[in-house]
Amino acid sequence: MNPLKYLAGYPPQLQARVSELIAQGRLGAMLAEKYGQSHAVRSDSQLYDYVQALKDQYLRKSVPLGKVLYDARLQVLKHALGTHTSISRVQGNRLKASREIRIATVFRDAPADFLRMIVVHELAHLKEVEHNKAFYQLCTHIEPDYHQLEFDARLYLTHCEMVRR
Ligand SMILES: [Zn+2]
Repeated sequence: MNPLKYLAGYPPQLQARVSELIAQGRLGAMLAEKYGQSHAVRSDSQLYDYVQALKDQYLRKSVPLGKVLYDARLQVLKHALGTHTSISRVQGNRLKASREIRIATVFRDAPADFLRMIVVHELAHLKEVEHNKAFYQLCTHIEPDYHQLEFDARLYLTHCEMVRR
């Protein structure tokens, strides 16, 4: 398995820098230093409240939320973030946006900023099905640092898989 599968689609120089960090064993420490804050959103009902609060703030007029839950079987690349290059192809056959929000369980133990990033991502899908320009505009409207957070969350997922192996 490609250890940098979460970063496919990012520039090769960037991937090379990440490989270097990994080889030096510094990726985990770098992430821990930058993203030291954890969160207390443990249960599905806490997750629901968390998502609802963000939605109230930024997407009040959008469709009401359906179910909100942590899903241990959800694969982040396949179902959530996409691979960054083939995103619209992968997501294109989704017929309509779902009101149900599933968050991969890996985010339950992730730093607070990454939970926020993935929730922003899924909330944006309430309005935009595909990962198109309007979708990312909505993400950055809710969270101005969205792109950096998505990239760093991909680094975090890369790190998690390496330490689990
Ligand atoms: Zn998506």
